[in-house]
Amino acid sequence: MPKRTEANRKTNIGVARAVPVFLLGIIGYASWVFTKLICVDYLISPPASILARPQRGSAIIILVIYYILLVVLLISFGRLLDTVVRRPGLIPHGPQWYVEQSRQKSKHGRRSRSTSRSEGEKSKGVDLTDAKMPKEMRYLASESLPFKVEEFWLRDVFVCNPDGRPPFCSTCYNWKPDRSHHCSEVNRCVLKLDHFCPWVGGVVSETSFKFFIQFIFYGALFTLHLLVVTAYFFAQRRQESNFLNAHWIVLLALAGLFFLFSGGMCMSSCQFAFINSSTIENLDRKTKVWSLAVYTSPRVLEEAREKNIELRLISYPRPPDEQLHMLQQPGASDISGAEAQAPSSSTATRSYRTFAILETEPGANPFDIGPLANFQEIMGMTIWEWLSPIKPSPCLKHDDSTSLYKLGPVVDELKANTGLETWSSHTSQRSRRRKSRVRSESTAQSDRHA
Ligand SMILES: [Zn+2]
Repeated sequence: MPKRTEANRKTNIGVARAVPVFLLGIIGYASWVFTKLICVDYLISPPASILARPQRGSAIIILVIYYILLVVLLISFGRLLDTVVRRPGLIPHGPQWYVEQSRQKSKHGRRSRSTSRSEGEKSKGVDLTDAKMPKEMRYLASESLPFKVEEFWLRDVFVCNPDGRPPFCSTCYNWKPDRSHHCSEVNRCVLKLDHFCPWVGGVVSETSFKFFIQFIFYGALFTLHLLVVTAYFFAQRRQESNFLNAHWIVLLALAGLFFLFSGGMCMSSCQFAFINSSTIENLDRKTKVWSLAVYTSPRVLEEAREKNIELRLISYPRPPDEQLHMLQQPGASDISGAEAQAPSSSTATRSYRTFAILETEPGANPFDIGPLANFQEIMGMTIWEWLSPIKPSPCLKHDDSTSLYKLGPVVDELKANTGLETWSSHTSQRSRRRKSRVRSESTAQSDRHA
């Protein structure tokens, strides 16, 4: 079974790598038909047999627009491919993953060929570096994240399961950071996964979503220009003579098909950017209940106890035994390799942090910070950034200590409903600093009225 999955995955990645070349071939063919057959052979020097006047001025304007759009399209495509291949936004494997890989290798009889090597690995535990990864997957691990996956609890708010623990991927053997999903095509968890797209060579995720939107936007403009010009002159030639040419018809079909495809994708992707969602999150967006672990200071906890307010709580870091147990899922018994990398040793000296487990209303998106701000988090702050495929999305920084992604009013409402908002002045100083002056003024006013 695992062999088949591995083969499928390799096929998927192989196809995804080949499709962009195929797409470039289509663009090359379209450019030849458009430039040579339509603009040169018909508009600039029409055949004597049809007695049509040359339309050189129109041809030049049409060609200039075409090649400007083509250059912009190719630049955005190059930027997108580069990001998809070199920075796909993958989450590293947990230590136990390497233990399992080693165990599976020895199970499948490779020991017989390299007994001494396997024994050597066993005796010194498991090599926990990415060097053990198959060659074709090296590119997937070549990036480094701007944060440590296992330190989710150092932020003030993180997405959790109803029990207060973050979701765990039993394939990657690691925690899933906020909004990440496991992508079966590359067999890895991906930060803010949107979808696996063979047309662009792999995974569209938080690192490439901006460039994906730009590519399909320019793709829609490019194919619209092709479609309108080709359809207009095709109709004109049909009036002049009984004209029928396979290349013209193929170009019309390709332009129409790709315009519908890129235009539709552009609209849905822009919609997701405005509402701060993704193709995957959109599947259950209207009913999804988010469980959030929200940091509560000892003083807040004391006040809650005095007021007999019931809160579901969890403290981090978890006891070392429990962490090891969780990192070994599902059901591994050999922990010698993982032990060396267990977070317990690094976290022993840190103080504990307690979190209240809160749940949103169905369909409420805690990451929705307003349409324009949502869009800017992906596309950039200025119109120039929206149009140019240069700067990466602002949301990639992950430098906010409150949470991995900016939080919207849903979280404030949640805290207020639970009673935590009233005590927030005693909670996180860092969160406090980030709150807008406007909100603190309005809170003060409402307090005064109360
Ligand atoms: Zn995973």
